[in-house]
Amino acid sequence: MEQIKCIGVLTSGGDAPGMNAAIRAVTRTAIYHGFTVKGIRRGYKGLITGDIVGMESQSVSNIIQLGGTILKSARCKEFCTPEGRKLAYENMQAAGIDALVVIGGDGSIKGAGEFASEYNIPVVALPGTIDNDLGGTDATIGYDSALNTIMEAVDKLRDTASSHERLFFVEVMGHTAGYLALNGAIASGAEAAIVPEMETEVDQLAELINNGFRKSKNSAIVLVAENPKTGGAIGLAERVKKEFPQYDARVTILGHLQRGGSPTSLDRILASRLGEAAIEAFMEGQRNVMIGVRNSQLVYVPFSKAIRHNKGINRTYLDLVKILSI
Ligand code: ATP
Repeated sequence: MEQIKCIGVLTSGGDAPGMNAAIRAVTRTAIYHGFTVKGIRRGYKGLITGDIVGMESQSVSNIIQLGGTILKSARCKEFCTPEGRKLAYENMQAAGIDALVVIGGDGSIKGAGEFASEYNIPVVALPGTIDNDLGGTDATIGYDSALNTIMEAVDKLRDTASSHERLFFVEVMGHTAGYLALNGAIASGAEAAIVPEMETEVDQLAELINNGFRKSKNSAIVLVAENPKTGGAIGLAERVKKEFPQYDARVTILGHLQRGGSPTSLDRILASRLGEAAIEAFMEGQRNVMIGVRNSQLVYVPFSKAIRHNKGINRTYLDLVKILSI
């Protein structure tokens, strides 16, 4: 701890609403406790190219409400190589950075782990991804905002679905996790959620839609998590359409709009708490941990546990979608 004077902060991988709130919290908490702060632009790429800027308290003024990341983000293949990480280390040393806060998803945390163990650098990670696919934490920065974006989009689709008595397959992000699809379905009152954690039972799904239409409903919306296993919304819609050609089935892929927009209050508060905790972790002598949140309490999660996404899907949530869609 004694030797940490300057802390670097970067955002890496897919951007997520709330990353700016996290950068702000990291910067201001560090300055409050007497550290110097440097911002690394474009994630690990900026470490390799030496794209590093000084951060003052004013550098993070007026950003808590902004989506995206003021430090930019990137995916950087070179950092996956020992040569790339060597360059990154040299630039870090040249900039006088003693410790690193990495805000990103599982790939970014994998990279942080390798870098930290290779060069014995104190690194703390913050879970920054809309997918919520990290172990050891109940939520990730950006997840709640993306969920709200999905909910608003599905609300709008419902208007047109019910006017035209249509069946909509709506594809949402999530990488290998079904949280956005499942909780998006509950929040928007969708008829079904297809998640990669469970086998897709097309027959059952078609049956459900068919019954719903016949009994009382004039529209149906199915939220589908992006996933090669299910074939995504397009693949699934085609399979269902074959069995039920009578329905006017449409596909909407929400895509990158799920990443954008102003962060929700939940994400701003989570990011602020996690950002403060990252600096306090260094002060406590912690290194190579992700800060997570479990039952509202902040926890230190070893990188090896953070990158093991094994939270699983709560089956009762899937049952809830089914029960509430009768
Ligand atoms: P998201 O969940 O939003 O996709 P992510 O952090 O998982 O975010 P990735 O593209 O998987 O996004 O990873 C971001 C960056 O982390 C990569 O571009 C690469 O620079 C670095 N990285 C990923 N895996 C490794 C690894 N095994 N070793 C070193 N660096 C890595």
